[in-house]
Amino acid sequence: MSNESQGTKNISILVPCFNEADMLPLFYPALCQVLGGLTAYEFELLFVDDGSSDATLAILQQLAQRDARVHYLALSRNFGKEAAMLAGLDAVQGAAVIIMDADLQDPPGLIPELLAGWEAGYDDVYAQRQGRPGDSAAKRLSSRLYYRLLRHFSAIPVLADVGDFRLLDRKCITALCQLREYERYTKGFFSWIGFRKLAVPYDRPARAAGHTKWGWSDLVRLGLDGLTSFSTLPLRLSTWLGLLSAGGALLYMVWVVVKTLLYGDPVAGYPSLVSIILFVSGVQLIVLGIIGEYLGKTYCEVKRRPVYLIREKNF
Ligand code: UDP
Ligand code: MG
Repeated sequence: MSNESQGTKNISILVPCFNEADMLPLFYPALCQVLGGLTAYEFELLFVDDGSSDATLAILQQLAQRDARVHYLALSRNFGKEAAMLAGLDAVQGAAVIIMDADLQDPPGLIPELLAGWEAGYDDVYAQRQGRPGDSAAKRLSSRLYYRLLRHFSAIPVLADVGDFRLLDRKCITALCQLREYERYTKGFFSWIGFRKLAVPYDRPARAAGHTKWGWSDLVRLGLDGLTSFSTLPLRLSTWLGLLSAGGALLYMVWVVVKTLLYGDPVAGYPSLVSIILFVSGVQLIVLGIIGEYLGKTYCEVKRRPVYLIREKNF
């Protein structure tokens, strides 16, 4: 079945922006140039200002005055890219949406290929990067290791080298909007919802201006979120850890008793006692920490707070 048969050819472009005042004057013309060549479609350009502290919103307001296709939506504070994307997905009006970063790392030149995949009947046409010349060797290596780990641990395969840059059919938008959890791991959601997927390879360029908003601590946090929201393996791991150390301790106890019966107890085993106590309490703390991770997540979710709040919009 072709998506073409759905009639309307309204396509939304969703761009989450956080302090992108440097980037927008470059991004917008680059995007317009590509869209200008796609006369078969009508476009909505939805920018989500994720609580920027620079001139991002002012620039968006100017763009909206000049170009009726430009819609913007400003969140009440910085909620993070994951929340900004949900805000955008809730608001887009097109039959399909293309999510892209404002920093030109998601090249607008790929849009025609994404649309071609959609016309061929695919619901989720995602861009898969082939090289990451813009990223450091350490970032590349850690991301490779992480995705391997995640794939092993969770039932849902999360693809490496695939980001949020993709085209989603209305069916996928509806599905994603139903996932309202507070701690969001959108990359996992894309896999979780299923639907017909197509990969489009591309070369990921370096950020063209401004700087990345992701520090190492953000990446570690996002990584842990990914693990704990899609896998309960850490919980099971803690059970194994507990069993292992308890079993070891039991064997050691038997050995101590046998040794005492055979040879008596000449010196009190103070050092071994202390090391065992330290080891076992360490294991207990690890296990408590793992349980705490999940408990904290549950606590956040049961509060049922909205994922984002909107301060103003122009549509
Ligand atoms: N972004 C956002 N909210 C944030 C952080 C980032 O909306 O809290 C946007 C940012 O403006 C950009 C995209 O998410 O359009 C990707 O951010 P960035 O380029 O900093 O991340 P990287 O490419 O380094 O992963
Ligand atoms: Mg970037």
